[in-house]
Amino acid sequence: MKLAKVIFDIPVEREFFYLCGDNLKKFTRVLVPLGNKRRKGFVIEIEEEIKKDIEYKWIKKVYDASPLINNEIYQLSRILSQKYYCSLGQIIFSIMGHFPLKYNFEFESKKEELFQNQSGFKKEIYLFDNEKEKFDFYIELIEKTKNSLIIMFPEVSIVEKFFALIQGKVNKKILKYYGEMERRERFINFLTSLKEKNLIITGTRISIFLPLSDLSLIVIDSYTDPSYKEKKYPKFNSVEVAETRSILRNIPFILTSYTFSVNDYYEIKKNKVILVDKRDFNKLPEILIINKKWNEIDKKTEFLTEFSSSLIEETILKGKKVGIIHNRKGNWKTFKCENCGHVLRCKNCNSMLILTGENKLFCKYCRVSENIIKKCLKCGSKKIIERVVGIEKIYRILKGLYNDFKIKKFTAEEREIKNDIDIFVGTIIIKEILNQFDFGAIIFPHADSFLNTPYYNSEEIFFIILNEFLWKLKKDTKLILQTKNPNLEIFNSLKNKNFNEFYEKELKMRELLGYPPFSDIIVIEIPVKKSKFFENRVNILRKFIENSDSQILSSDIVDNKKGGKKLKIVFKIEKNKELDFEKIMEIKEKLDFKIELNPEII
Ligand SMILES: [Zn+2]
Ligand SMILES: [Zn+2]
Repeated sequence: MKLAKVIFDIPVEREFFYLCGDNLKKFTRVLVPLGNKRRKGFVIEIEEEIKKDIEYKWIKKVYDASPLINNEIYQLSRILSQKYYCSLGQIIFSIMGHFPLKYNFEFESKKEELFQNQSGFKKEIYLFDNEKEKFDFYIELIEKTKNSLIIMFPEVSIVEKFFALIQGKVNKKILKYYGEMERRERFINFLTSLKEKNLIITGTRISIFLPLSDLSLIVIDSYTDPSYKEKKYPKFNSVEVAETRSILRNIPFILTSYTFSVNDYYEIKKNKVILVDKRDFNKLPEILIINKKWNEIDKKTEFLTEFSSSLIEETILKGKKVGIIHNRKGNWKTFKCENCGHVLRCKNCNSMLILTGENKLFCKYCRVSENIIKKCLKCGSKKIIERVVGIEKIYRILKGLYNDFKIKKFTAEEREIKNDIDIFVGTIIIKEILNQFDFGAIIFPHADSFLNTPYYNSEEIFFIILNEFLWKLKKDTKLILQTKNPNLEIFNSLKNKNFNEFYEKELKMRELLGYPPFSDIIVIEIPVKKSKFFENRVNILRKFIENSDSQILSSDIVDNKKGGKKLKIVFKIEKNKELDFEKIMEIKEKLDFKIELNPEII
């Protein structure tokens, strides 16, 4: 008889003890009594000594004969629990959440070769301007790497594409691993990674948790893609998880993309990351920044300048296709005086104010809003708001205007598209078909709507999106950005093909205002309850945040998806500082809140 230390998929950081037989191994799943229910738990330790004065309960059922993870994954989970302020149980169960409990194959994990003969941690970013060269580079890495490696992709379709490309060409066993796989097949691949060596893993973000015993390289394809961020709590960023694992194992970490993030630009400048730029800037298509002045708008369309209208006609007459890209998430209005060009700036930080859905002027850095004004403060003109038309309207206007052209609304669900379409109207999802058709022009009629969002990093997000378009297009394609603010650095750097100009400006702004990479942003969301207790606890939380080298940026009550209200507190914490883990977990237990580190958007 021994004692098993068990954790659960609950937001509380606590361990429970149960009596177990002598054969029970650690890192296995069990069924135990908890309160007056039975609950699935995970054994993290077996203790020989049983205290006489405590009355323990017995484990009811054991699901696994051998450990499901190894020490390295356990250690990684411990680090992640502290980093993302969630319980170890939540991390462990998010790794093996939906594995079958019953299975009829035996497995035994390989002895771990932790931290031995490793080549040393280093982080490298490779920028490519085409997929073929990038895939060749991965094949080269596979051939050069001893032992196992993981190559992560942002989407299943690219996993499948790369898998098909290398199958039969390499001398190692290749395993696929992604959430959409059949549950049993995925579980078998998980166990294979535990017991076999010399494997190539091609998968999506969840493959970072495979318990390989001889992992010696991690590669992340298109690492700036938002799909690497976990959508459910705990919302970890798999790129960060991969970096943590590479450091823990002391192995190289390779990232590829069309461009880098602002954070990595900062790291590259500080020589903490090695940059290998394989892009050829001569290959870039022509980028045209079109000033969207009131009097240059084609009155027939309401959203295109006369230049863009004639370009569309010209392109289609040449037999090429046109893509019109709209931001669904953007606001429906933008703010700027049509008469004198005056824009309103934040009194506090001097950055441009944006118009929110509630008709308020909002500073995305200071996160404060003020009431909208009715006329321009400089010249008195009343033409200060532009109404932005949505995808549906763009589509209808074009259809009414061009009877002879075939126009299609393109959505993510589209499978087979005929080649006779002239104009595709859609969101940035159109990037998926750029290689499939001969596009003569890509037009962003409201480029500002990508920037006119309440997120401090909206320019970075848009810049990364534009890079995906730019490097996929042919040299003779024209990329048109219609904007009311043609002098913004993002547009200048694109026009001059000097991309670092954009990163420099963005970094300066972030440093001045203390945003990432100079701090971390944390968002806490608490379901609102009407009681004195609730208010007291929220006050305790606020004080705790303020005393933790942090600054609260905003604290608002917003609508919950389920119809209720939630309190959303956004704050930044000094770089390399963190909240006291035990204290925040204690408050979290009482308030039952969700917490996210550096969200994609805030
Ligand atoms: Zn004005
Ligand atoms: Zn401000």
